[in-house]
Amino acid sequence: MIQGTTKLLGVIGHPVTHSLSPAMHNAAIAHLGVDFVYLPFPVKPEDLKAALAGFAAIDLRGFSITIPHKQAILPLLSSVSPIARSIGAVNTVYRTDKGWCGTNTDVEGFLAPLQTPTYQPREGSDWSQKVAVILGNGGAARAVVAGCAQLGCAEIHVVGRNAQNLAEFQQSWVNSPMPVPNLQVHTWDNLSMLISQADLLVNTTPVGMYPHGEKSPVSADSFDQINAGAIVYDLIYTPNPTQFLKDARRRGAIPIDGLEMLVQQGAAALKIWLDTESVPVDVMRQALRQHLGLE
Ligand code: NAP
Repeated sequence: MIQGTTKLLGVIGHPVTHSLSPAMHNAAIAHLGVDFVYLPFPVKPEDLKAALAGFAAIDLRGFSITIPHKQAILPLLSSVSPIARSIGAVNTVYRTDKGWCGTNTDVEGFLAPLQTPTYQPREGSDWSQKVAVILGNGGAARAVVAGCAQLGCAEIHVVGRNAQNLAEFQQSWVNSPMPVPNLQVHTWDNLSMLISQADLLVNTTPVGMYPHGEKSPVSADSFDQINAGAIVYDLIYTPNPTQFLKDARRRGAIPIDGLEMLVQQGAAALKIWLDTESVPVDVMRQALRQHLGLE
């Protein structure tokens, strides 16, 4: 029940109408029986600073950030975690005595499924012998690079469309608070060769996302090069599974879809806001699946 004592959480974006976060977080709040509510706040880019002041005035406890504010908010915060600085984007903000603090829970979300027993490297090997190939060099790719670096992957290859953007992407990791020296960048012409070496192949492009579910970022010829047993991870969560993951499974690779990353980055944020280690991840996953019509 919303009452005078109810504490506020929310998500800011522009637009914010399609955000899945309210469904996920309010399901968790209801399950825990805590006196919080999570609301969507549409905030135009030019209103971001005013919105932060207003949120402080009404004692909002924290919020998620979606497009287009993830980078723009950085200079407006009192402190930014090293991981968010490395990625260059904030997806979670919380309030302390010193003001608004920003972090990024996408890395934790990305890593969560890879750290479960199902996806551990087989006995006698570990991530330090593994090659990661990441398709795309946008915002989500930055969280995936940081995640692969945390896993300790031997090689991290990023594939993109624009050589200039790729060079800048690589340079940004040299100058980062968390440098990634084993990062190499490539254009798409090298894809077949890279796929043949991949132990972990991650799609961070929007290719294959609803309503273009018939598309895949990887052609059939290139996909034929994948090793059976490689992990193929698509950050897209709708459709579920994507064509990319269907093709991967057909070739004996192990698929992971983007839903778990979405759930786990949200769970990591809720832990910060509620200052607890135990949040109902199953309830959050179930709420998202229902919202997306997956059950
Ligand atoms: P973004 O910043 O716009 O980056 C998209 C990247 O994909 C860019 O490098 C872009 O290349 C590339 N790309 C776009 N269209 C392409 C095409 N037709 N062929 C090849 N490359 C193409 O977007 P983002 O925020 O990283 O998000 C990317 C995807 O990840 C979205 O589908 C999003 O829903 C998903 N995502 C999922 C989660 C999760 O929790 N599961 C979290 C974050 C993102 P250029 O740089 O050349 O334009």
